Amino acid sequence: MIVLGRADRIATAGRRTAKEAREAASKRRQTERQKVSQKSLEVRPHRHCVVCWTPISIDSDPAVCNDSACIENNEKRESSRKRLTIMLYLFPGIAILLIFLQLMSGGA
Ligand SMILES: [Zn+2]
Repeated sequence: MIVLGRADRIATAGRRTAKEAREAASKRRQTERQKVSQKSLEVRPHRHCVVCWTPISIDSDPAVCNDSACIENNEKRESSRKRLTIMLYLFPGIAILLIFLQLMSGGA
C-alpha cells in the first residue's frame, strides 16, 4: 500500500515535470522567435544568394552571389524549373486535346 502510494506520487511528479518542461520549452521558443524578429528589424533590407545563402545586395538579379558555382547552379535550377512549368501546362493540354479528339470522333 505504501509502495503503491509512493509510485503514484512519483508518477504525478513525473507528469508535472514533463508539463513544466513543455511549457518552458514553448516559452523559450517564443522568446527566441521574438529575438529573431527583433534582429531582422535591425538589419537593413538585403537578400540572400539562393545557392549558398550569403547576404547580397537587395537589387542583385538573379539572386546569387558573385561565385561562378552559384551562378551556374542557379541557371541549372532556373532551366529545370522552366521545364517543369512547361510540362505542367503541356501534359494537361495534351490530355484535354486527346479527350476532345475522342469526343469529336465519337460524335461524328
Ligand atoms: Zn552563392
